Amino acid sequence: MQREFASREDLIAYVTQVFPGAKGAVSETVGGRRAALHKLAQLQPHAYGDTRNYLDGAVTHLSPYLRHGVLTLAEVRDYLQSQGYPWSVVEPFLRQLAWRDYWQKLYEQWGEGIWQDREPYKTGFTAADYGEELPADITNGTTGLLCMDSFSQELQTTGYLHNHVRLWLAAYIIHWRRVKWQTGAAWFLMHLLDGDPASNNLSWQWVASTFSVKPYYFNQENLARYTQQKWCMSCPHLAKTCPFLGSYEQLHKRLFPHAEFPQSHSRLGTRR
Ligand SMILES: Cc1cc2nc3c(=O)[nH]c(=O)nc-3n(C[C@H](O)[C@H](O)[C@H](O)COP(=O)(O)OP(=O)(O)OC[C@H]3O[C@@H](n4cnc5c(N)ncnc54)[C@H](O)[C@@H]3O)c2cc1C
Repeated sequence: MQREFASREDLIAYVTQVFPGAKGAVSETVGGRRAALHKLAQLQPHAYGDTRNYLDGAVTHLSPYLRHGVLTLAEVRDYLQSQGYPWSVVEPFLRQLAWRDYWQKLYEQWGEGIWQDREPYKTGFTAADYGEELPADITNGTTGLLCMDSFSQELQTTGYLHNHVRLWLAAYIIHWRRVKWQTGAAWFLMHLLDGDPASNNLSWQWVASTFSVKPYYFNQENLARYTQQKWCMSCPHLAKTCPFLGSYEQLHKRLFPHAEFPQSHSRLGTRR
């Protein structure tokens, strides 16, 4: 295959010709080392630590470059350390890089075993209680929940989702729709430009509780807060029929009626 192109337009034209059946729009994410270094130079470690959980926070979008080896974790770490920031400022970002490294090390050890439940679900259900199929309203973005429909479309049109969105969408699929995490994980891998079996599958398992001590779930207050109410305010479900409405304890009873509510669940919204 051709590897050198005079411009991005030439590259797009070539790919369209080689894959005439390819559907959808071209992602705005620009590939290559120059684009990766440009993104790295924009890294704001102070703002990252303070805002990374917010959808409009100072996250880096470095994941496709790290995933495909355009940048290495070590060079990103070294670059940041060379900038002279104190440890407390760089630590939140380095911690996220460490998650990636950790998942990769487990993948090396387990190989295809990352597709198997590492532990039983802690939801009061067994794996057999979860469906195999992804409901069409999720992939079509027609659930009627403005947030989830928007997340589904964003995944399929841009190939990128903010970490918090990945957590919410995965939790919705597994816990609200009772679908196996493997089904959702495979769907993410089809669309993410940073799609990585280790980071993806083990994060899905963490949400599911097959690789953590309890399931990850969220409530409307948490989603509204970190999205600045972007979807909630115009969602017809907001006040009464939103499935995410309630305290963590109330949602736990509704979602996991056979499992005990652990006290530490009250802090769920701020994890990872
Ligand atoms: C359900 C689910 C699926 C995911 N699937 C993938 C995937 O396929 N590929 C992937 O690279 N990441 C995945 N992640 C991790 C994380 O969401 C993305 O790495 C991050 O959102 C990428 O955006 P960013 O580069 O702007 O992140 P930043 O917040 O700017 O982080 C910088 C870098 O640190 C690493 N990183 C950050 N958070 C995590 C994390 N929680 N776990 C592992 N590495 C992290 C990434 O390499 C990222 O580029 C997944 C998370 C969840 C909850």
